[in-house]
Amino acid sequence: MSRTLIIAGNWKLNKGTGAEAAALISELAGALPAETAVEVVVCPPYTALVAVKDALSAAPQAIRLGAQDVFWKTSGAYTGQVSAPMLAALGVTYVIIGHSEARGRFGVPEPDFTPDILKQFGETDATVNLKTKAALAAGLIPIVCVGETLTEREAGDTDAVIQNQVKGALAEITAEQVAGLVFAYEPVWAIGTGKVCDAVEADRVCGVVRQTVADLYDVATADAVRIQYGGSMKPDNATELLAKPNIDGGLVGGASLKAPDFAAIVNAAA
Ligand code: PEP
Repeated sequence: MSRTLIIAGNWKLNKGTGAEAAALISELAGALPAETAVEVVVCPPYTALVAVKDALSAAPQAIRLGAQDVFWKTSGAYTGQVSAPMLAALGVTYVIIGHSEARGRFGVPEPDFTPDILKQFGETDATVNLKTKAALAAGLIPIVCVGETLTEREAGDTDAVIQNQVKGALAEITAEQVAGLVFAYEPVWAIGTGKVCDAVEADRVCGVVRQTVADLYDVATADAVRIQYGGSMKPDNATELLAKPNIDGGLVGGASLKAPDFAAIVNAAA
């Protein structure tokens, strides 16, 4: 089955003012080809969603808007949270869910991220599932992130970790809904570290994601679901990664903040 490749830029905690965000979109619009067969998504911080939406409406390319997180409740006493219908009303199409930086499974812990702090904002498979269901109910397309830590990889637990995360994310979700969503396989040790996962191994683990979907649902659903690789994807490694049969795109962090690099990755996918 042929799947449309999807390259998504995760801006993380960067370019969050309207002016910074609009400037990056204008650079991107200048760097990207006017038309491409690849689906292109940008995920700025919440504070820049409106500015990016406006800037995208002036860009010649059909670039989609994504958010970096969502809360599963639609309203109520949840200070600081943003719901899926709120994002949909803003014109958001995609939402990243379960990023390792939200799961609190940082490859390189920072000094002020104490275990207590991580417990407080740490995402779990259960919250990933709630958020995925809420996103789908609001018509958003979830980009569900899964990935193993270095300790888990070195213990030989990679496949089991991935299978559990995929199963946890998909509880109570129908085959039809799963067919439309996107997974991102992001080995935690490769995110923001410059250490890219070998393309053969990245393809193998994306295959584990696909097989898990086939086991939970059926082969047609597994064939339809798109699986990105994420973790230090750059122009010089993108071509090899994106040529692999189980890799349907990239979730790109650092390189998405540099318009020429992000455009080169999109071109590599095309
Ligand atoms: C990410 O944030 O999802 C990511 C893959 O980051 P980077 O490309 O910087 O490793």
